[in-house]
Amino acid sequence: MVVSHYERSLFGGPGPRVEMSVGGIRRSVVNLGSYNYLGLADHPDVVAAAADALGRYGTGACGSPMLSGMTDLHRELEHALSGFLGRASTMLFTSGYAGAAGVLAGLLRRGDIAVLDSRAHVSLRDGARLSGARAVTFAHNSPEALDGVLSRTGNRRRLVVVEGVYSMDGNLADLPGLLAVAERHGVGMLVDEAHSMLTCGPGGAGVVAHFGVQDRVALVYGTFSKAFAGVGGFVSGGTDTIDYLRCYAGSYGFSCALPPSVVGALIAALRVAAGDDGPRRRLVENAAYFRAGLHRLGLDTGDSTTQVVPILVGADRRLLYERGDALLRAGLFVVPADYPAVPRTSVRFRASVTAGHSRDDLDEALSIIESVWG
Ligand code: PMP
Repeated sequence: MVVSHYERSLFGGPGPRVEMSVGGIRRSVVNLGSYNYLGLADHPDVVAAAADALGRYGTGACGSPMLSGMTDLHRELEHALSGFLGRASTMLFTSGYAGAAGVLAGLLRRGDIAVLDSRAHVSLRDGARLSGARAVTFAHNSPEALDGVLSRTGNRRRLVVVEGVYSMDGNLADLPGLLAVAERHGVGMLVDEAHSMLTCGPGGAGVVAHFGVQDRVALVYGTFSKAFAGVGGFVSGGTDTIDYLRCYAGSYGFSCALPPSVVGALIAALRVAAGDDGPRRRLVENAAYFRAGLHRLGLDTGDSTTQVVPILVGADRRLLYERGDALLRAGLFVVPADYPAVPRTSVRFRASVTAGHSRDDLDEALSIIESVWG
């Protein structure tokens, strides 16, 4: 990783265009780097809800949810998410990473095995490590490989862990195929819907709902940092499991609750997103338009079928950073994804298309990419 290519400052919110410092000069660039998938970060209802909660509750929760940090707003969001996903219970975390890691650390024990898709997010791997369980990976999205791992580990307590939409590839988990295998072995599944919640499935209820397998997936996990345009994470499931996790997920009980202003915004974001399919449709159309444009330029977008659109570069890391700089100088911000986020042999740009991008934005991005790829 080359640090100077990361931590670039945006002057302003994560809109489709943003001002950044490029070679010391502040200028407007097309932004394909933010996860503001539905454009909710500056939605008037969401901003008003944040301001209202800020005025009524002040800046911070100032306590763990177990002790003094839980407010009626936090409870309202938990209930709204449970209703939205058709689950009995939901708990909130202060970050998506903390939630994913906390859920695995809370559920698994030494001697257990976390059976992770090989492309599962680092927060899930870290949670497995924290739990003391063994982490075993299976080849990405392969029911046969999952079957192999589960057949070899039959004497252990196991949990299968996959993502709904893969964060660096933009493809969907093969939930029907993987669930059939997990069920045959009597093993439960956790689906990380970080990139799929609100963007995918009927009413935005995610990939689990897209495949209609709600009754077969024990736990659904999501973050608020992407389509929700806030921060935090949540897990939804049965009441016993969630109550257990409230006691055993250290990142829940031993960490401060989300600020009420964030929770107020999240309640509004859920209401807006669930109530209007328009932005979801625009997101799908924009992603397809952008992918088709990249294909016309002869570029490889891997397995992407969603708003997460990788532009594969290969093993040449220097080329990745050189092109990243050239893209920015030409007016396009798109993040480089290097090892360990992706395999060493498959570094890439990871473009995040949003509903807020206009065709002009996407055309401009494509013409900049064409000029840089030459
Ligand atoms: N899971 C996945 C699949 C992710 O992509 C991310 C963040 N990129 C997380 C969990 C962590 O979420 P957060 O950034 O909200 O902490």
